[in-house]
Amino acid sequence: MSINLPKAKIYYVLCPSFHGATLLSVVLNNHSQITSLGDTFPTREFDQICTCRKKVSQCDFWQQLYNETSLNKFSQEDIWFPYLPQLIQQDGRSTRSVNIFLNILMLGLTIPLGRIVWKLASKPCQEYYEVYLDFVNFIANRNQSFVFVDGSKTLFKPFFIQSYSNNEIPAKIIHITRNPLSYAYSFYKNYQKKSEINIEKYRNKILEDAAKKWLFQHQRILKLKKLFLKESSYLRISYDDFCDAPQANIVSILDFLELKHEDLLQSVIFPEKHHLMGNISIFDFDGKIKPPSTWSSKLSNDEVKRIYTITKPLLTEFNYILEENV
Ligand SMILES: [Zn+2]
Repeated sequence: MSINLPKAKIYYVLCPSFHGATLLSVVLNNHSQITSLGDTFPTREFDQICTCRKKVSQCDFWQQLYNETSLNKFSQEDIWFPYLPQLIQQDGRSTRSVNIFLNILMLGLTIPLGRIVWKLASKPCQEYYEVYLDFVNFIANRNQSFVFVDGSKTLFKPFFIQSYSNNEIPAKIIHITRNPLSYAYSFYKNYQKKSEINIEKYRNKILEDAAKKWLFQHQRILKLKKLFLKESSYLRISYDDFCDAPQANIVSILDFLELKHEDLLQSVIFPEKHHLMGNISIFDFDGKIKPPSTWSSKLSNDEVKRIYTITKPLLTEFNYILEENV
């Protein structure tokens, strides 16, 4: 297995949705040595709007990227770069779940056996690795960036790349947490916005589902951390805390990225790097970070209790103190 190394150091953001990952990307892009892309790869399901305000099909950055890298190897996929190596031919939903299962199984087998495991499917693994590096090198060259922050929130990729590269490209993770009450409320509001029917009567169920999702996704990240990460390769920040004290959090993030400090809390400094997918609210970032919408007046005591009951296993670890009288 031949190994090439990328021209930029790679860091990954891991968190569920509604955890401020896109906001963090925009802020980090204001650093002269970082490129940070939000959800990272465009979908083929529709022509997304990029933060440069052009559609992906008209955006110079995305078109140049596609034409000058080997991303066309995945032209059959729903997104430009798949979440996992295609260990078996993908021709439908059932194959997709088998592929997920095989990838997780092989990653698990690397614990006792090492990277030799990937030889069982050397062609798709090598291809996935090479195309990803090709993409990172394109970014490093085009934007003159020493650090690439991958905001695709893909759980598997950092650990695959780490293992496949024989730890030459360590999985360095920024794990974002968020108060589960705020998360559940954002989740509910988004559901409401997208739904054509009145969902009020399903409110309890939706809030509980959100709480379960929060717990499940954070527990998976912690499990991967325990299995595959050194303590020095992991930084946990809280979205709530980031909004309350952005400057202090930026300092710890830049220390983690081993970069010098620069003033990042400004409107977009490098428009040539501002090509993100995702939340429309960050199109016109003005350098000001607003507190995330507050849940306190919007959730009843009973709802707060339900959410806390479900998310309890991680509340202490994440320093979310149970409110009094709940
Ligand atoms: Zn663009």
